[in-house]
Amino acid sequence: MVRAAIGLGSNQGDSVRICREACESLRNDPAVHILGISSFYRTEPVGVAGQDWYVNAVLLCETSLPALELLQLLMRVEQSFGRVRAERWGPRTLDLDILFYGDTVLRLPGLRVPHPRMHERLFVMAPLCEIAPEWIHPELGLSVRELLEQLLRSDHQQQICKLD
Ligand code: ATP
Ligand code: CA
Ligand code: CA
Repeated sequence: MVRAAIGLGSNQGDSVRICREACESLRNDPAVHILGISSFYRTEPVGVAGQDWYVNAVLLCETSLPALELLQLLMRVEQSFGRVRAERWGPRTLDLDILFYGDTVLRLPGLRVPHPRMHERLFVMAPLCEIAPEWIHPELGLSVRELLEQLLRSDHQQQICKLD
């Protein structure tokens, strides 16, 4: 079993419900054992302006799936919630990203782990720090807590707020 961190995002439809149900889909998969789910956050879109705010969260699990099969599972779950791949970084019903997969570093055309932009994103690092603050980023050599502190020092632009 490998420990993995998965980022969830949605800004179309009933995003809180979609993220909750996506977690349940993963819980129901025999190859995934959920260790924890962060709070849900309402977050300002990053990348493409003029779209609705997102709901974001991070899920921590153990999985028997190799990384590429985990990605395929995530894509199937995205599709089951009606995800249509349109504009990059544009609006979507559900986005599931592999953030960490153990201490593995992968640079394949279709899968980069750790997720190459995670440490720049407050909407990833704040929820991740709730459930895995001591996890060391295998390329950057800093813990999630340290990376979040670095991000908070460097960037005051990204707006996020925790939901109840
Ligand atoms: P970003 O990757 O910046 O968060 P995005 O999630 O909006 O952008 P998508 O359109 O969902 O991007 O995915 C584009 C491609 O990224 C997918 O087809 C997938 O193969 C690839 N990909 C590479 N690394 C990862 C990863 N760690 N997790 C999920 N998808 C990944
Ligand atoms: Ca993403
Ligand atoms: Ca994605």
